[in-house]
Amino acid sequence: MTRIYLLRYPKDTSNQPIICHLVQRYEVEFNILKADIRPQRDGIMVLEMKGQKEKVVDALDYLKSLGVKAERLAGKVHRDESKCFQCGACTGICPVGALYIEKPSMEVTFEVEKCTACGLCVPGCPVRAMNISFDPATKTGTPA
Ligand code: SF4
Ligand code: SF4
Repeated sequence: MTRIYLLRYPKDTSNQPIICHLVQRYEVEFNILKADIRPQRDGIMVLEMKGQKEKVVDALDYLKSLGVKAERLAGKVHRDESKCFQCGACTGICPVGALYIEKPSMEVTFEVEKCTACGLCVPGCPVRAMNISFDPATKTGTPA
């Protein structure tokens, strides 16, 4: 499964190789979407984790044992229509066909209902017309 989490690091963990441990011990793949970690200060990181559900749950337990708070996030993707110049580059990137060329108009359509918020199109757009924002996924705070 793939999930996105906001991690809040206490300052005493900021120098530890926590993400390395996630990969080595729990076989979790990760993608850092945003990070603000500085020595001796509380930090935050938005992390996409991919792996078997049990392994992700174990990885979250490991984070908790270190005092790192993990909050599951749901991504929302928007296209800035004022920036998009219809180049079509994103249509070859989107794995679920949420961005595609409409025929015969040849217009690049963004079908938000199909979008899984994987974020792949965000760096792929030459003018950064695709944006991703994050909201808490649950009100109960259930981590996985
Ligand atoms: S890559 Fe960016 S500019 Fe090009 S069609 Fe997609 S959203 Fe528009
Ligand atoms: S975020 Fe992922 S699924 Fe959504 S449009 Fe971009 S590439 Fe497609």
